[in-house]
Amino acid sequence: AAKENGGGNYRFFTEEMNRQALHRMQMESHLRKAIGNNELLLYYQPFVDRASRIVGMEALIRWHHPELGLILPADFIRITEDTGIIVPVGRWVLATACNQVRAWHDMGFDTPFVSVNISARQLQESDFEQTVLQAIDESGLPPACLNLEVTESSMIQNPEACIAKMQHLRSRGVRFSIDDFGTGYSSLSYLKRFPIDALKIDRSFVSDLMKSKGDQEIVKTIISMARNLNIDAVAEGVETQAQMEFLIRCGCDTMQGYLFARPLPAEQFADLLERQKHRESSGQAKNTGQGSDV
Ligand code: C2E
Ligand code: MG
Ligand code: MG
Ligand code: MG
Repeated sequence: AAKENGGGNYRFFTEEMNRQALHRMQMESHLRKAIGNNELLLYYQPFVDRASRIVGMEALIRWHHPELGLILPADFIRITEDTGIIVPVGRWVLATACNQVRAWHDMGFDTPFVSVNISARQLQESDFEQTVLQAIDESGLPPACLNLEVTESSMIQNPEACIAKMQHLRSRGVRFSIDDFGTGYSSLSYLKRFPIDALKIDRSFVSDLMKSKGDQEIVKTIISMARNLNIDAVAEGVETQAQMEFLIRCGCDTMQGYLFARPLPAEQFADLLERQKHRESSGQAKNTGQGSDV
């Protein structure tokens, strides 16, 4: 309607644009109700060590749309960010992930940490720290079991404020990693200012690793940067044995990707934890020589 007074611009408001705008508006109004309608859910994808043991997991949001089915973040996170809906959605993600991992602890799975994606918009909220601490306190999850994934671009928008918030949360034990690392404007000196615990090597460098000498060099460089900063390097999107072996040879300790497991609904992730626990307890029984197979 605003376009009607805009004179010449009006005729450019084509049917296709109209259709897209309508789709976006419908998505938006739907998304506003998604939390209340219980349509959001978290999938979990493991991080593994060199021996392929689960050392943590990333919480990845999904939207179960009543008509369209399961929708991936690529198709709705952007709208939630543009409209600010990401703020309540992000709060929901933090609370749900913390509660879930606390529940797994209570069930006897000592899953070391859960990693939650934080968008720029959330990081900029004045009560961001409060939101994170509330999720921790209300769930009873030890703060050191929560890792937050932020991107380079979301930190450079207001670096001083971000650093202060990150330092505050870190003083409580929360950890931070930089997601999609290598796709932004990273310099070692810049990075040194941010209180971070890990760099996540972007999937784009891992996917062509065995074909691209250039990507191999980038991956090696990121891993040595991490080592120089005395932080961890985590590789995402590991799909083949060859990629895994290359990464291990380069000194990468933590990996994530379809080779190990896809993102899974909570119940299926718990099955994965159960199997690992069983493997380990039977392995341990062998080692210590005490052993009934129960
Ligand atoms: P991300 O944080 O970089 O997450 C990694 C993405 O790569 C996930 O996609 C994961 O399913 C996918 N992936 C993992 N391993 C492999 C692999 O071996 N091969 C391939 N081809 N893909 C792999 P997903 O779940 O669709 O999430 C996409 C992005 O959406 C995430 O990228 C993250 O930026 C964003 N996102 C997800 N959940 C949340 C959330 O709760 N809050 C916010 N703000 N953003 C989220
Ligand atoms: Mg991530
Ligand atoms: Mg990532
Ligand atoms: Mg990524």
